[in-house]
Amino acid sequence: MKNENEIVKLQNIRVSYGGVPALEDVTISIFRHDFLGIIGPNGGGKSTLLKVLLGLVKPDSGTVSVFGKNPEQARSRIGYVSQRPVFDNNYPVSIWDVAMMGRYGKAGIMRRYSHEDKAAVERALKRVDMFKYKDKQIGRLSGGQQQRVFVARALVSEPELLLLDEPTASIDSTLQAEFYELLGELKRNLTIIMVSHDIGAVSIYVDKIACLNRQLYYHGSREITAEVLEATYKCPVQLITHGPVPHRVLKEH
Ligand code: ADP
Ligand code: MG
Repeated sequence: MKNENEIVKLQNIRVSYGGVPALEDVTISIFRHDFLGIIGPNGGGKSTLLKVLLGLVKPDSGTVSVFGKNPEQARSRIGYVSQRPVFDNNYPVSIWDVAMMGRYGKAGIMRRYSHEDKAAVERALKRVDMFKYKDKQIGRLSGGQQQRVFVARALVSEPELLLLDEPTASIDSTLQAEFYELLGELKRNLTIIMVSHDIGAVSIYVDKIACLNRQLYYHGSREITAEVLEATYKCPVQLITHGPVPHRVLKEH
């Protein structure tokens, strides 16, 4: 019987670019309300994996199922915050406008926005606590504030699955904690997959951790062993344990 809570099912996915493999034999199931962190080194295939889920990259082999459908059919139910969104600091677009871009899929670029579109944008901006800045120019915000707006843009289509590609890369470490707290609130009614090369930050906040370096190591939990980390990062790692729930993070490498 099909499990309705199994939102993502990848089986034996292989992707290569010009004959060079980026993903090999990747198999994973992701369930409703999972908050999964995928960590791995640069070039490990993290962005590629998210693009497979969105149907933007076609695997050479293997099967992809999102909400029991193919990625194209599922895309309207997925919110996506891509790696390093490009916005010139003087880009003359307000926060409100950036968030409204998330309605293009629903509204069509030429259509006038409906009351419903505006209500969705207001809700999304309030969820990330940026509604108060709605008329400000996007380039005038800090990296952390910009990232909140990009999350709002992904939320305005009211997705059930949120994909985040290195969302904290441009945020300094004190503001990262705030950003992860926001994700902690969002995960109550969303499934979240976040990829990052930053093990230390990610492993504290997510519920489940996978390691990806062309191959994926995942056991449906947040436990990762030194062996898996070393295999993923190809270098010796030092593990520490802290907090009430014992878990391990990479300290330095
Ligand atoms: P990550 O997000 O973990 O840094 P990527 O998925 O971006 O990894 O890249 C995985 C590998 O695939 C890298 O070696 C990268 O150079 C290569 N790659 C990614 N996208 C392309 C592309 N469009 N064309 C050719 N090679 C690519
Ligand atoms: Mg990437």
